[in-house]
Amino acid sequence: MIVKKSFQFRLKPTKKQARALEEQLGECRWLYNELLSQRKLAFEDLDLSLTKYQQLMFLSELKLERPSLNQVHSQVLQNVVDRLDKSFQGFFRRFKAGENPGFPRFRGIHRYNSFCYPQSGFVVEGRELKLSRIGRIRIKMHREIEGEIKTCTLRKNASGEWDVSFSCIVDTKPLPVNEKSVGIDVGIQHFAVLTDGQEIANPRFFQKGEKDLAKAQKKLSKLQKGTPKRRKQGKIVAKIHERIRNRRKDFCHKVAKKIVDQYQYICIEDVNIKKMIEKSHFAKSILDVSWNQFRQFQTYKAAEAGRKLGVVSPAYTSQTCSRCKYRQQKKLSEREHCCSECGYKATRDFNAAQNILALGLDGLGVIPRSLRL
Ligand SMILES: [Zn+2]
Repeated sequence: MIVKKSFQFRLKPTKKQARALEEQLGECRWLYNELLSQRKLAFEDLDLSLTKYQQLMFLSELKLERPSLNQVHSQVLQNVVDRLDKSFQGFFRRFKAGENPGFPRFRGIHRYNSFCYPQSGFVVEGRELKLSRIGRIRIKMHREIEGEIKTCTLRKNASGEWDVSFSCIVDTKPLPVNEKSVGIDVGIQHFAVLTDGQEIANPRFFQKGEKDLAKAQKKLSKLQKGTPKRRKQGKIVAKIHERIRNRRKDFCHKVAKKIVDQYQYICIEDVNIKKMIEKSHFAKSILDVSWNQFRQFQTYKAAEAGRKLGVVSPAYTSQTCSRCKYRQQKKLSEREHCCSECGYKATRDFNAAQNILALGLDGLGVIPRSLRL
């Protein structure tokens, strides 16, 4: 089976290379804004919608007008055209759906932070990335790249360093099929509770990271804009963000992998709906993002391993008794399930996990072993 996977690394460019990256980014941003202004003029003055192909045709003319565009690999420039086109597609889609989307905007210097080699112009050799017109840049490689690299995106992060991410096509082998199934309830008290009885605790850095971040951000907000002190504090905030992001990612990877290794049928809730239901009760942003990430990792790891994922709506999963299906109102603060109909007792989250498992298996058309004749 073929899956798409992305691999991200920190780059270690020399000063000269960093300058070159910066320049190329600047050229891309200029092009983006230029093409946007073309579209805007055509749209507002002539009531005309320019297409991607019309804009691609125009590239060579622009290069004559602005020779510095020639420093950038031609496919990278084409990718800018593509990017703008995508943001217009998104605009029109939302417009047609009756929303009130903002017209795509011009990008200021801090609002354009990446460019992409969609096919060629780059080669990875050992621990070096060879870029057309920039040279060999050292990569801080913490894991092996798998599969065939398709695209290469260079991104300047908020602390001013450069990252590269490779999107790869990986040929995976499914894990041996088994009959085991699991239901997973993600929550506030525990990160996740599983129907096999496992309770996965929220890692401590969720809370600590959030506190650190709040503190650093508060300090930032008190500093005057445009001062060196503020810039420095801005970098500190960006660093904390990054540290949290990396640790969170790592954590979600590990939990998702452990589950996929074990179970053939994995039943989880649709976390986007869950957030809507429980939003008013808490606003722990790290937890929010973590659920999403966990779900994403779970989805692609399951696909890779040939596992089946049952995604269920979280409506009533905590209210319903998993044994007799009787539905009973519960406040979020009530951590125990105690059924007034059949007397079944369990923790709130374990009961929910069992409901998720039953609904998920039902959705997948799987009859649990316990119900088979
Ligand atoms: Zn009951």
